Amino acid sequence: MSTAPAPDRTAAPSWTVGDVTVHRIDEVALPAATGSWLLPGATPDLVAGQPWLRPHFAADDGTLHLDSHSFAFTVGGSRILVDTGIGNGKQRANPAWHDLRTDYLQRLADAGFPPDSVDLVLLTHLHADHVGWNTRQENGTWVPTFPNARYLTARVEREFWAGYGMEEARRQMFRDSVFPVEEAGQLDLVDVPAEGLEAAPGVRLVPTPGHTPGHVAVELTSRGRTALITGDCLHHPVQLAHPGVGACVDIAPERAEASRRELLGSLAGTDTLVLGTHFAPPTAGRVVAHDDAYRLVPVPARPGRR
Ligand SMILES: [Zn+2]
Repeated sequence: MSTAPAPDRTAAPSWTVGDVTVHRIDEVALPAATGSWLLPGATPDLVAGQPWLRPHFAADDGTLHLDSHSFAFTVGGSRILVDTGIGNGKQRANPAWHDLRTDYLQRLADAGFPPDSVDLVLLTHLHADHVGWNTRQENGTWVPTFPNARYLTARVEREFWAGYGMEEARRQMFRDSVFPVEEAGQLDLVDVPAEGLEAAPGVRLVPTPGHTPGHVAVELTSRGRTALITGDCLHHPVQLAHPGVGACVDIAPERAEASRRELLGSLAGTDTLVLGTHFAPPTAGRVVAHDDAYRLVPVPARPGRR
């Protein structure tokens, strides 16, 4: 809890979920090459077969639009951030992630979430484009960006990477974005049972393994309305029409597909607002049946000033 100013509903794009305003904090649009690398099954022909993807989620030539952003909201006086993007000044092998200089942190503060006011950071999984703003550089060292926050991730997720033969690029990511939070005593590992885990009132971590072993989506419920933040169990709306399209970086592709199918089946035809962690604007929508799978009916954000 903090004495920071109330979140500003007009600064960043936002949606209303019951009593809660969910803000999208933009970091950067990912380059055109990202889609064909990340989702190799989403060929131009396959994308062309889903006209509803254009123009927002795909270009006429089949290029997929993908973004990096976080979601921020307040429940019961707690300021919560879901995933922390790529971060600034990180040395990364992926050129789209390397040494960024965005004004993400200013956008977050403008929306009413200055760093020292954030109470809880929910990490859907421990990949470089989800933990980057966990830390920022201060006098040449990486320190937690959110000094008063608890950072939460699944115990299974942390333990998987502890036992994984990491290549140097991944070790670098842990050194600059995970270890400093652990060393500050701010990383809480939680056991997430099959039915999910309440991380805050009305906020539930939903196990969606496969992309990584401890991956969780984040469900928010307020006054009978529900939203679901995907993390990377879905990267792009094309996967609604083709749940068999996986990401090249899925640790367990079959499990990831099973998680996608299970999740989409549970969302289809419901009022749940799906907020895509990498979905380009309009970013959100509802899942409806379409042909032999699904599609997204977009729900645009209330525009922000920036
Ligand atoms: Zn990602």
